[in-house]
Amino acid sequence: MNSPGHNFSRLVTRAVRRYLGGPDQQWIFEPPPQDWSPPPIERTALYLHVPFCRNLCPYCPYTKVPYDETLLEPYTRAALAEVDWWADAIGPAEVTSIYIGGGTPTLAMDSIASVLKHIRERFRLTGDLCIETNPADVDEVTVRRLHDADIALISLGVQSFHAENLKIIGRQYDPSLAEKALELLAKSDFTSVNADIMFALPEQAVGSVIADLDRAAQLGADQLTTYPLFTFPYTSVGKYLRLSAVKMPALRLRREHYRAISNWCDEHAFERISVWGFKRGAVPRYSSVTRDGYIGIGPGAGSHLPDGFVLNTFDLENWIRAASERRRAIALRMPFKGEMAGWWWLYWRLYDTRIPLDALDGTLGNDAPKARQWLRAAERFGLAVRNDGCFELTEPGSFWLHLAQNYFALSYVNTLWTEARRQPWPKSVAV
Ligand code: SF4
Repeated sequence: MNSPGHNFSRLVTRAVRRYLGGPDQQWIFEPPPQDWSPPPIERTALYLHVPFCRNLCPYCPYTKVPYDETLLEPYTRAALAEVDWWADAIGPAEVTSIYIGGGTPTLAMDSIASVLKHIRERFRLTGDLCIETNPADVDEVTVRRLHDADIALISLGVQSFHAENLKIIGRQYDPSLAEKALELLAKSDFTSVNADIMFALPEQAVGSVIADLDRAAQLGADQLTTYPLFTFPYTSVGKYLRLSAVKMPALRLRREHYRAISNWCDEHAFERISVWGFKRGAVPRYSSVTRDGYIGIGPGAGSHLPDGFVLNTFDLENWIRAASERRRAIALRMPFKGEMAGWWWLYWRLYDTRIPLDALDGTLGNDAPKARQWLRAAERFGLAVRNDGCFELTEPGSFWLHLAQNYFALSYVNTLWTEARRQPWPKSVAV
């Protein structure tokens, strides 16, 4: 059953979406029609989902299964076939970046090497390769294999260097493990190393977050992604929080953490590159989600196509069967109506905290005046400033957007993912 807060956030986000997307945009995901196939695409990013983890963290909402060596061969076979399916459908597109997420992708480096080789054979790869990894899975061998696969940007899921915080999020290792992993990655000649750090954990003091940022920077991270505990109701944390009445930190506390993080980053020459992310120096930006269009390979992988969103089946067994047989592994699709593709572009530019004004008209078409109105209102309330042909979110603007995204995720992603988990091929999901 949904909580009153969840129901309220659903109502509010529905009203905003209806206002922005217009009455024609149906917020319903359904199986694509039999005769549907993706349109030809010239340029795209690519997301590869590797669903294996040694330790299933209770707060984690992503598609994952316990690591089992016998699953690697069928997983690889299915991923190779799905690369072919996409290449046949959209043509030999330029792939501008590859993001490998999970799960813990580094548990399947042989699979990844084969899939990357095949992507290079079927597409024109021109951009950087990024990968996520976990402190418990980083050693000299992993580092060598990442270099062998030409992976340039690494993100380490540190979350915290404090034992009490690791315990809250269900990580069963000593903080020194994360320190050693980050130190090793930072001295191993990757183009950039990002550390994920969580904040606003239950009972976490602001000093503990700042100490985590300090430690990550000392150990050599040149990018930092900070994010609060997402309480998707279907994760164990969601259940735990409801059952034991442990409350998420109050808004005031979350604001305090966010402001302290922003100030610390300012003082330590980390520039803001997204609502959650900061980087130091002239390294390419590490980001998992702000690409304008991407195709997704793997169970639960989403694709952002010119004509809408599609989502693969979340169920590993069903995905392996469909992809290996060169059938469509896509379970759900939401087509774009009107200027919806443009609004998604604006959503991700807001996430970047910079909206190039000269691109607004071309991207949002008839809805550009509506978007400008909203941006001017944000400027009046001190949430954005005009700078160098862009609207830039201020620190308060970034915080409120971060909060709105939190509710958006709860309302939209939670509804969609809950249903997609419940059955491999859902009939219809209204978000
Ligand atoms: S947080 Fe990372 S390591 Fe933990 S279950 Fe999720 S994907 Fe796996």
